[in-house]
Amino acid sequence: DRTPLIAGNWKMHLDHLQAIAFVQKLSWGLKDVRHDFGEVEVAVFPPFTDLRSVQTLLAADKLSLTLGAQDVSPHESGAFTGDVSAAMLGKLDVRYVLVGHSERRQGHQEGDDTVAAKTLAAHTAGMVPVICVGETAEDLETHGAAAIPLAQLAAAIAPLPADAEFVVAYEPVWAIGSGQAATPEQAEDVARALRESLRDLRGDDVATATRILYGGSVASQNVAGFLRQPNVDGALVGGASLKVDEFTRIVQFKK
Ligand code: 13P
Repeated sequence: DRTPLIAGNWKMHLDHLQAIAFVQKLSWGLKDVRHDFGEVEVAVFPPFTDLRSVQTLLAADKLSLTLGAQDVSPHESGAFTGDVSAAMLGKLDVRYVLVGHSERRQGHQEGDDTVAAKTLAAHTAGMVPVICVGETAEDLETHGAAAIPLAQLAAAIAPLPADAEFVVAYEPVWAIGSGQAATPEQAEDVARALRESLRDLRGDDVATATRILYGGSVASQNVAGFLRQPNVDGALVGGASLKVDEFTRIVQFKK
């Protein structure tokens, strides 16, 4: 059985002091509502500059939140000004690494080859890549919903060994930050197609074990509808992950 994963992608919000206050409030809030981390895993993806502070806090207070990073260099080390390596992230107890987020694909011209190299870099350093895939509004019109996400997923996992663990996040670009979430049925259709293609590419065990998240305007009012779908195993939350109360309600989704 797949443990649901609720992941908060902070994007470029909260400096390290704000991050400490936020994570403290979040974990107190989750304790208050007796959140069971064995039933739902909760991860936060702060900016790079926050990771050390959040790591220290999680370790000192034995908080059960999982730490993620928003990006990683495809290179191991060397003359890559501004990049952060997978090994550096691993040293900070980072478990998950977002790769292929549409804001990187679009704003930083990252193509499938770069995403595949980052996926491999994260895996090689012992972390779990969270591979983001999704179609633009234009893609949706010309190719339908699933074609682009399927192609992006196949490209990203191509270099991974057969037993590598990864998470898939289906984020339709038109749903991100727009307040226009996909319907649960739309999310399920693509999630099912992604799982079927994993079955072809990687076999039954990988297809069954891999968590597929939905992302794009997820909020406390709509999260349960997505999690009720058989092939949707969690949510990648942007804007709503920056409000402690709202994110706590999302984590407590009832199917
Ligand atoms: P929003 O939840 O703000 O739509 O962002 C989704 C997202 O891009 C998460 O990675």
